Amino acid sequence: MRDLVPALERRRQQHLYRQRQTLGTPQGVEITVDGTPYLSFCSNDYLGLANHPALVRALAEGARRFGVGSGAAHLITGHSYAHQALEEDLAAFTGRPRALLFSTGYMANLGIASALLRRGDTLVEDRLNHASLIDAAQLSGARLVRYRHTDMDSLARRLSGVSSGDTLVATDAVFSMDGDCAPLADMQALCNRHDAWLLADDAHGFGVLGEQGGGWLKSQVGEGAANTVLMATLGKALGTFGAFVAGSDALIETLVQQSRTYVYTTATPPAVAWATRTALRLVREGDDLRTHLNELIKRFRTAAAQLELPLMASLTPIQPLQVGDAAMALGLGDALRRQGILAGVIRPPTVPEGAARLRITLSAQHTPEQVDRLLDVLGKSYREVMNAAS
Ligand code: PMP
Repeated sequence: MRDLVPALERRRQQHLYRQRQTLGTPQGVEITVDGTPYLSFCSNDYLGLANHPALVRALAEGARRFGVGSGAAHLITGHSYAHQALEEDLAAFTGRPRALLFSTGYMANLGIASALLRRGDTLVEDRLNHASLIDAAQLSGARLVRYRHTDMDSLARRLSGVSSGDTLVATDAVFSMDGDCAPLADMQALCNRHDAWLLADDAHGFGVLGEQGGGWLKSQVGEGAANTVLMATLGKALGTFGAFVAGSDALIETLVQQSRTYVYTTATPPAVAWATRTALRLVREGDDLRTHLNELIKRFRTAAAQLELPLMASLTPIQPLQVGDAAMALGLGDALRRQGILAGVIRPPTVPEGAARLRITLSAQHTPEQVDRLLDVLGKSYREVMNAAS
């Protein structure tokens, strides 16, 4: 049996050791971690709904009406009225014929690929896709081919190279560690030309981007063609938990019949689905939240550019600073933490070698003053870390 300790030690020496921290407060912009208060810029709770009083009430009401645990998989007796009603709401909101709930986005991505593809088929992916899309290739048995990040010539070359079997092109709609967006209209046109499926993972766009928070896919291609599969998560902007897939009736029925990650797992608590119906209403009516969030994004980018911070090409609430070296990214994260600010330190293998970064996420709950405080601390700390390294 392999001794596990040396590999853990190597990871630590390479500054790649990951550590959990324990929240003592609900998710939000002012949180307590391991007993210390912080101003947080690292959740995906982009609209600040995770602890919204209306959601807390809806969750309690859901628990009273439907109980806490679902008690079974959807295909046994786990599929409650709360799940069914939410699926109908999501289908109406996305303008797609049907929607299907999955327990997590990770499982949804695995489930889509494994239902649509098999050995001999091809999964074509952006190089910077989320790990769940990459892992999906393994469960499906399909060949994995990757193209250069958002590069349509590279994608077209990959598609032309497929000579047999079915093809699924999969992309993050908003890239989780970069914050930039996939050119989905061009991708849909290419997929149409090559008779391929297109899977858009709108985990970070749904609720945040587009009219009424309809997401990046909808803002680019409207309701989309029948070969376009939408996956979005409910644990980010919607503030609850879970994920869904929306598409044609035939697609959803195929997932129900064949997705292993749908069939062989317990349905999410119905109370969570019930609370998500309220979250969806808040998202639909949340133009003020999105306007405020966009103002914060502009404020951050303008000041960060003046401070010559290494901004990336993102107009979304994900505003990473590309530091490069993992030890330096850790140093910058630690400097912020010492001054009461939390931001995500992202290192390989989550991002490519040499592309470590600070992942700053903005939320509609932040005030302009809080963003200014972040910028003040960042400006000084970034220079200190850079000077110490040179
Ligand atoms: N896709 C993307 C792009 C993500 O960022 C994430 C979550 N980090 C997922 C899928 C997985 O979603 P979940 O957390 O619901 O499993």
